[in-house]
Amino acid sequence: MSALEVRDLSFAYGAREALRQVSFSLAPGRFAALLGPNGAGKSTLIALLTRLYDLQRGDIVVGECSLRTAPRPALRQLGVVFQQSTLDLDLSVEQNLRYHAALHGLARRQTGLRVDAELARQGLTERRGERVRELNGGHRRRVEIARALLHEPRLLLLDEASAGLDPASRLALNQHIRSLCHEQQISVLWTTHLLDEVHSGDDLLILHQGRLVASGQADALSLEHGGNLGAAFAHLTHSGASR
Ligand code: ADP
Ligand code: MG
Repeated sequence: MSALEVRDLSFAYGAREALRQVSFSLAPGRFAALLGPNGAGKSTLIALLTRLYDLQRGDIVVGECSLRTAPRPALRQLGVVFQQSTLDLDLSVEQNLRYHAALHGLARRQTGLRVDAELARQGLTERRGERVRELNGGHRRRVEIARALLHEPRLLLLDEASAGLDPASRLALNQHIRSLCHEQQISVLWTTHLLDEVHSGDDLLILHQGRLVASGQADALSLEHGGNLGAAFAHLTHSGASR
């Protein structure tokens, strides 16, 4: 069974086509990078996966649940970190998590246990009482990751999670998500426009102008282009590559 299956997904904002016949599947417990330049359609895909927008064409299946026919059980298996932060800066780290847990109907007792566990996993236990406004960008992202994992999803979606961070924090966050993925067997879909966030062992999806122009193992794709993933990316996303 796949962690996620996207089937023939197309989406348009009015007359503007943002995704065109996108299909792929993610294996459980894998780190998959969705790489694409600005405007490729990454955030639109995340918005469809999280049901921010209704599906127009195609289907999305999470685990065995279709977003069309079983949206609630499908969404329950998803955790998401959006491109724009949605934390309340004036609430503490813990308050942000508890607020989210309440929204999702977690029982009080369970909430306490889950908040403790996720704060520990993100290395934030000591900061639980601090207002989010006082945290740096990397730590704020970790709060969002803790929040996304509170209900123990099987698939974590991150939309340009490292944007705006300095290079060291960017690398640390990417590494952190990789260890979560490998140690806890959480499937990850990591979207980025930055090639250096893709590792050779990753599953790689390349999106360009709303089309999936490559999917497979990053190293296999790299081999097809003389061992140079940068060359592959440039070749697949130069403007002539779209049809
Ligand atoms: P990415 O996240 O890869 O940068 P987006 O999914 O944000 O790409 O955008 C894909 C395309 O859809 C772009 O051409 C963008 O201008 C367009 N688009 C995104 N959001 C909207 C919107 N709310 N209304 C109209 N067009 C949009
Ligand atoms: Mg985006």
